[in-house]
Amino acid sequence: MGHLVPNPNAQADGRTTTELGAVLPKTAEVRTSRLFVGGVDLVELARDQGTALYVMDVEHIKHQLTSYKEAFDLDITVAYAGKAFLNKAMVRILAEEGCYLDVSGGGELAIALAAGFDPAHVIVHGNNKTVQELTEAIEAGVGLIVVDCLEEIERISRIATERGIEQPVLLRIKPGVVADTHDYIVTGAEDSKFGFGITDGMAEQAVRTALENPGLKLKGLHIHLGSQIFSIRPYAEALGVLAAFAELMHTTYQCAPEILDLGGGLGIAYQASDEPATIAEYGRLITQHVTEAFGNVGAPEPTIIVEPGRSIVANAGVTLYTVGAIKDLKGIRCYVAIDGGMTDNIRPALYDARYEAVIANKANQARDTLVTLAGKHCESGDMIAVDASIQTPEVGDIVAVLGTGAYNATMSSNYNAQVRPAVVFVEQGAATVVQRRETYEDLLRRDLG
Ligand SMILES: *Cc1c(COP(=O)(O)O)cnc(C)c1O
Repeated sequence: MGHLVPNPNAQADGRTTTELGAVLPKTAEVRTSRLFVGGVDLVELARDQGTALYVMDVEHIKHQLTSYKEAFDLDITVAYAGKAFLNKAMVRILAEEGCYLDVSGGGELAIALAAGFDPAHVIVHGNNKTVQELTEAIEAGVGLIVVDCLEEIERISRIATERGIEQPVLLRIKPGVVADTHDYIVTGAEDSKFGFGITDGMAEQAVRTALENPGLKLKGLHIHLGSQIFSIRPYAEALGVLAAFAELMHTTYQCAPEILDLGGGLGIAYQASDEPATIAEYGRLITQHVTEAFGNVGAPEPTIIVEPGRSIVANAGVTLYTVGAIKDLKGIRCYVAIDGGMTDNIRPALYDARYEAVIANKANQARDTLVTLAGKHCESGDMIAVDASIQTPEVGDIVAVLGTGAYNATMSSNYNAQVRPAVVFVEQGAATVVQRRETYEDLLRRDLG
């Protein structure tokens, strides 16, 4: 991790908690010295529930879903990407808000079904869905399966015809558009393990194969450019590529796409200085370019699905930790050790992701101390925030790391046999534990000795 080299120019930003703006959950407020979210005192919550603790602002999640529904001047379906954050309580919010759900793999589908979610509103993804996963999805009656490879077309055809089902599918297309984000989360480029390329003829072959095989109904196309995308121009470019391909489908195969699924990827503010495009800007751009690009296709304009994940939940989430030790290495850096780390948030180790933090019990003070928040695991790279500004830390303080609602809980692990944190939903002064903390018994449940 290159950024662990001491940076003599690093300075605390001195911002107060409230100056962190869009990084905070919508309902965050400072009352006297404490940080509240959803009307709940996070310091008391940490005492009641223990730390590490994931806290989610329900009003924030609902606000983001509504923003997507309102951002497009088009017939739009919002399909939340479950891999960002998923449990039964989250699934129920989606159902209440009239949203669809993207699942990747049988486990996510099982969570959706366990919560009573309408399978017709489920979209199934994955670049190598197993025969068992495809069978589970088709038998459940999922709305759409997004086909990623030729082998899958034959598998779906066989499973569906055996059951007398005609399964609606989309084809995942690589539009050959490169979004500006981390290499590991770019997915729309030509060199990607996901989907069918257009230039190499694979997409057209997939259309032919889908039309030739019984038991599946080709409804349209899917793209996903990547994640944490700040500049939304590539979506307009991709729409142009899709429209050209739609025209070929229409003229050569008489199967113009009825549905265009544009994936997710809109970025969020992890740091106060981050300025991602807004949901409203994204909606306007897509509205304009769908109409423009499909004006010449000669077939009815397709209905649009968008699949946001991170931008729904990331800033709704805060992770609470207790400071256990402080090592001030003079002239190098000050390590503040917290009671969690890469097991509850792998993103700094995986992507060099950066996070803002505040001390929840000193939330009214300026963040004028530069520290490195170190996890408790046996890896030097187990850092949650390097050169982060926080209030002057002391042992026993409750640190709130911000923007942890996406790709934290769902990427958590039991490394060092660490038990996973509980998840608490906060709303209008009430805190509800929606996933309990793991126990040592949970760790031993699969161990058959
Ligand atoms: C991950 C993913 C999403 C969600 O991406 P975000 O960057 O979290 O918005 C949407 N669709 C597909 C197919 C994905 O793989």
